[in-house]
Amino acid sequence: MKVNRVCQSCGAVTPLDTASFRCACGGLYRLSYPKGRIDFAATAVSRDRSLYKYAAALPFDARKKPWSQAAMGEGGTPLLELHKSVYCKADYLMPTLSFKDRGASVLMTAARELGVKEAVADSSGNAGTAIAAYGARAGIACHIFASAATSKKKLEQIEAHGALLHLTEGSREDVARAAIAYVRAHGLFYASHIFNPLFYEGTKTYAYEVFEQLSFRMPDIFLLPAGNGTLVLGVYLALTELKSWGYICELPRIFAVQAEGCAPIARAFERGEAEVREVENTGTAAEGIAIAAPARGAEILKAVRETKGSVLAVTDAEILHARAALGLRGLYVETTSAASYAAYLRMEKDGGAEGRLIVLPLCGAGLKG
Ligand SMILES: *Cc1c(COP(=O)(O)O)cnc(C)c1O
Ligand SMILES: [Zn+2]
Repeated sequence: MKVNRVCQSCGAVTPLDTASFRCACGGLYRLSYPKGRIDFAATAVSRDRSLYKYAAALPFDARKKPWSQAAMGEGGTPLLELHKSVYCKADYLMPTLSFKDRGASVLMTAARELGVKEAVADSSGNAGTAIAAYGARAGIACHIFASAATSKKKLEQIEAHGALLHLTEGSREDVARAAIAYVRAHGLFYASHIFNPLFYEGTKTYAYEVFEQLSFRMPDIFLLPAGNGTLVLGVYLALTELKSWGYICELPRIFAVQAEGCAPIARAFERGEAEVREVENTGTAAEGIAIAAPARGAEILKAVRETKGSVLAVTDAEILHARAALGLRGLYVETTSAASYAAYLRMEKDGGAEGRLIVLPLCGAGLKG
């Protein structure tokens, strides 16, 4: 299949390759390829419950099933009712125990098709784990850059998949800089869940599944965590597709959730700005969303504003309370994962959830830390 990358800044169109991860002008890429309309009536009853039942709208030649080497049944996660008209989607029930499986499976499948043998990624933990796991299955040797402060379980998981772990001191941004320097020095493929637009082709399937699970309608509000925004942007992509295919008329609102200790998107949203300025990470227990300078910040703001959504920043106290409350309902999730439920609890208290159909994800498993 002919897959192109389009620079969102200068509009340059280039074929998908492995050499560069952003345009010469500095712009970030989106993908362009002959995308089919999904027949949800058919996918709803498909024997394949994995995200590859949506292959018609993925950048692959569906007849060749190029994902069969890497895939492990990811996707098809349960949607559980938490309260009346409030649902959580248990995306931690995937092979590497976080929602990152969706994007990593698609990205590493495409990398294998492109002939990649060795790849580099940087992560606060879960993306690195997922890239390492799907890389192992796709026969791609992985270098994963992570902060030395990452929870131990996540680091163990990365190493279990045979990836070479490069521990870096300093901030999340220092880790990213180290990874990019390594990519450049060794001429390797950058399997970035942030820069590489293939990752969002995977995360968008979260919204396809919700649409199907709610009997072909969308919630009023998608509550979504936002660090680098890979789930926010995947959901937004799916919403624009569903609209263009005539399945929905209006876009549901996207409410992005950040941690108060590191909330650059919330600050930019409050100030009405179009770009996200770097903030100082003053510390949060939600390590998975503590991104001080999200590369796609402007896109996240646009997705939130176009859907008439909002950005909420929750405190660590609210997150820890939400995590404990989920545990008492049988749902054991990692601390970062509880941020979206914390945001719901705040909305509920403020009356903002009244009468609304809300879906929030549980992104990572509790055993991860
Ligand atoms: C990656 C991750 C997030 C945040 O995702 P972004 O793509 O950075 O917005 C939230 N929760 C968990 C558990 C994660 O692994
Ligand atoms: Zn460009």
